[in-house]
Amino acid sequence: MPGLEDLYREIILDHYRNPRNRGELAAPPAQRVEGYNPLCGDEIVVYLLVSDGEVNDVKITGQGCSISQSSASMMSAAVKGKTVDEARALIRAFKGMMSIHESRLEGEGDDAADQLLEEVKLGDLEALQGVVKFPVRIKCATLSWNTLAQGLDQAASA
Ligand code: ZN
Repeated sequence: MPGLEDLYREIILDHYRNPRNRGELAAPPAQRVEGYNPLCGDEIVVYLLVSDGEVNDVKITGQGCSISQSSASMMSAAVKGKTVDEARALIRAFKGMMSIHESRLEGEGDDAADQLLEEVKLGDLEALQGVVKFPVRIKCATLSWNTLAQGLDQAASA
């Protein structure tokens, strides 16, 4: 029987080989945000279509290591169709999961945050949790999420 680490490796490789929501959106009306992780050379472009406080569509292009690209794929699948508030909460929960010291989410500390974190951990995203053991790779995993946050800010001020 394969161990959990093997299962996680499979999930990451699946998203790397068959990335979800790959492609581009016309910008405008979509937001286009580029992210770059100089430590590893990862590049991500996030296209974000936000209207009425909802993330209607997400597309991703880019290149880089399997962690950065699979995380982007998982991110796109996780936030598509969510409200902007839910997407922001997911970003916080994911980055909380990626923080080395399992610190509590800043300014949250309530049941809603715990529930969100549980949701993140139950999905494919949990597969990325092993990355925490390799601090250099954390930036690979969080790149697309930071880029998404930028896109949400951009959409809010558009
Ligand atoms: Zn990387």
